[in-house]
Amino acid sequence: MPEGDTVWQAARRLHEALAGKALTRSDFRVPKYATVDLTGRRVLSTVPRGKHLLTRFEGGLTLHTHLRMEGAWKVYGTDERWRGGPGHQIRAVLGTADRTAVGYRLQVLELLRSTEEERVVGHLGPDLLGPDWDPERALANLFTDPARPLGEALLDQRNLAGIGNVYKSELCFLLGATPWLPVGALPADRAEKLPGLAHRLLESNRDRPVRQTTGLHRHDLFVYGRAPRPCLRCRTPVRVADQGDGSQDRPTYWCPTCQTGPAPAPGAPQRWRERYRRTPT
Ligand SMILES: [Zn+2]
Repeated sequence: MPEGDTVWQAARRLHEALAGKALTRSDFRVPKYATVDLTGRRVLSTVPRGKHLLTRFEGGLTLHTHLRMEGAWKVYGTDERWRGGPGHQIRAVLGTADRTAVGYRLQVLELLRSTEEERVVGHLGPDLLGPDWDPERALANLFTDPARPLGEALLDQRNLAGIGNVYKSELCFLLGATPWLPVGALPADRAEKLPGLAHRLLESNRDRPVRQTTGLHRHDLFVYGRAPRPCLRCRTPVRVADQGDGSQDRPTYWCPTCQTGPAPAPGAPQRWRERYRRTPT
């Protein structure tokens, strides 16, 4: 799953390539919109909302896309070769006189009236990288279900929008709590720091090509993707296990020494291991 900063960067790429220009090419390669042609319409903007992208066109139309696990928007110059994947993975092409944006493997692609955007993003909690960021509300949302494991509450975009699997593990490490600790059991001083910490992490990575949470010169991440290497603070081997509701399990990393709280027993099944080893985001 992409993190909010990845989506923010994609939105900026699309905005810089298309905004203010008229479309010279419009091609939606999904059955529902196969006959839609937006050629001639001016693109107004692309904005990120949590992990959703909203591309607005004149005439009150919005293209809503979501990258989910595999999706990507790439931007090419007129003579550039498209290298984002095989042709059958392309879901949308939006071209102007000098730039072409190509959407690969987009799991969500829908056109709607711009006045109806709330329908697709209205459920989101405060956006960590948005103008609506509201730390008090994010904290209140996180605590509406005190029994919920911290890691799951952080990933729930209705609480606060923008945290994916990488920041989930890193934030739990920085809070000194395992991802399985019930939110309500988080000590008050650490809970209060949570929204600010999450906001700083995403904000400081917004413009970085490589995600960095440690502030250390030689290591970008504290725990994510590092099992079974030693913890950067205490040298205990970092551990990994699934966390989720069974349908959407995510590999979750933690240090059993630096982080307090419940955790799966060592040797618990790790079905994800082969599947995720090569795609650690
Ligand atoms: Zn440690």
